Amino acid sequence: MKRNIVAGNWKMNKSLAEGVQLAKDVNAAVESAGVLKCDVIVAPPFLHLTEVSKAVGKKVAVSAQNCAAEASGAYTGEVSAAMLKSANIPYTIIGHSERRTYYGETDAILAKKTGQALANGLKVIFCIGEELSQRDNGKYFDVVKGQIENGLFQLSADEFKSIVVAYEPVWAIGTGRTATSEQAQEVHAFIRKTIADKYGKEVADDTSILYGGSCNENNANELFAQPDIDGGLIGGASLVADKFIKIVTAF
Ligand code: PEP
Repeated sequence: MKRNIVAGNWKMNKSLAEGVQLAKDVNAAVESAGVLKCDVIVAPPFLHLTEVSKAVGKKVAVSAQNCAAEASGAYTGEVSAAMLKSANIPYTIIGHSERRTYYGETDAILAKKTGQALANGLKVIFCIGEELSQRDNGKYFDVVKGQIENGLFQLSADEFKSIVVAYEPVWAIGTGRTATSEQAQEVHAFIRKTIADKYGKEVADDTSILYGGSCNENNANELFAQPDIDGGLIGGASLVADKFIKIVTAF
């Protein structure tokens, strides 16, 4: 069964003390919210991962925002999937548009990172999404299909079960310009069909596909009501516990 998921991507925000406090606030809000209809994940910066893990209980999982493409060795500044596993971090985000754009992470690099993550037993939140020009020229289906094929379709059907897909149109990230629920649903349905064509309907139906891009406490409800939107990857609104919990409880 696919799971509904709301994941907060903190990006490069918060001091260590602020991050631990945010984790505690999110955890307290989740605990007092009762039975939830989604899994909750927070993705703090690498430095904060172990302290944030200690600050949350069983209802909040912790994710890295990235991992290295190589297993180990002379890669200054990198953090490997094996290190994340050794710190009991169950998830990593891979392929966020900021990594693709600012750090030149190609589909080939992202495929290697995904391989490292899965080889170390991590689950992967794999981000895809078109830029504004690609939306405007109608190429967005080709773009997301290419990102899935080149970043993920080297995996076996069994490996693919550890993948969560996050559709994040780049023009909607951090811009306050959310995709409409119809726009998002259209692409989510296309992503699920693309997965079904490769791995079969059962795998596709079991894959959680999250929407990201200015998702907030005001629009989450409408977005999450769409049949192929299984939750959200939340940037800005995940930095304030009150806002984040409203998105979590939008299911
Ligand atoms: C993101 O960076 O994954 C994101 C969706 O950011 P925001 O919610 O701020 O648009």
